[in-house]
Amino acid sequence: MTAEWDAERTRRSLHAPTAHDDKYSRGVVGMRTGSREYPGAAMLGVEAAWRTGTGMVRYLGPERATGLVLARRPETVAAPGRVQAWVIGSGTDAVTRTPEEAAALRAILAGDVPVVVDAGALDLAAGATAPLILTPHARELDRLRDALGLARLGADDGDELRAEAARETAAVLGAVVLAKGALTLVADPSGVVRRVRTDAPWLATAGTGDVLGGVLGAIVAGRAARGTPDPAALADAAASASWLHGAAARLAAARLGERGGPITALDVAEALPRAVGE
Ligand code: AMP
Ligand code: MG
Repeated sequence: MTAEWDAERTRRSLHAPTAHDDKYSRGVVGMRTGSREYPGAAMLGVEAAWRTGTGMVRYLGPERATGLVLARRPETVAAPGRVQAWVIGSGTDAVTRTPEEAAALRAILAGDVPVVVDAGALDLAAGATAPLILTPHARELDRLRDALGLARLGADDGDELRAEAARETAAVLGAVVLAKGALTLVADPSGVVRRVRTDAPWLATAGTGDVLGGVLGAIVAGRAARGTPDPAALADAAASASWLHGAAARLAAARLGERGGPITALDVAEALPRAVGE
């Protein structure tokens, strides 16, 4: 079963702030992202989480990335504490990861708070107890499937085969799988696939996936603050995050010229408030 995701579905799965809200009820996101090699990924994700409307971002990462994050967003809390969702792995790779970092990520995956698992953390996902949203791009999905003993996708495989691969991977891992691309496919473990058409080809640029991680963290934390989400609710939240990310990219591109223009990941993050507002 597949469903096309749109503005209306996104609207229904987001919550506008009310007078009763405080920073905790809006959701607290924990981010363990970025590395010495890719510190900017941490900043992009943190910026995106704030700009999606989260109540608080807690950031834990290497010193160089922490410096960048705090210079950009002094609002960020660089200390551990309770969170309603984690984002891990953006801007890291499994090769340069230290044993201490791997242990910290494993502890997060062994918890019960929903975790958005990106990039360098994807190889740690199997066996996790926490509810997971995996966010592989095409090559990361291939690597993940290799590790699980599943067939790789062919270069010419179309969207139906991609949807089938996302569905199968979600079922095998018991996780939500958000397979990134021009058409993003969000599969939950029960076999439902949500199709999110991004319609923003300028998104094919470095760092946009790190921004998506922050949007996801903010929306999942907000959802979890209102009660424990089941896998279908997590997948709905993920599809809405992907839709918002695309909407922000379209707005950013439109601002740079009547026919759109090249945007960078930071432009997408900065356009998020308008996308959320609309
Ligand atoms: P990453 O590869 O992790 O940086 O993520 C790239 C982001 O850009 C994902 O959200 C993709 O869905 C999106 N994206 C990549 N290529 C395209 C494209 N050609 N059209 C629309 N969105 C894209
Ligand atoms: Mg990426």
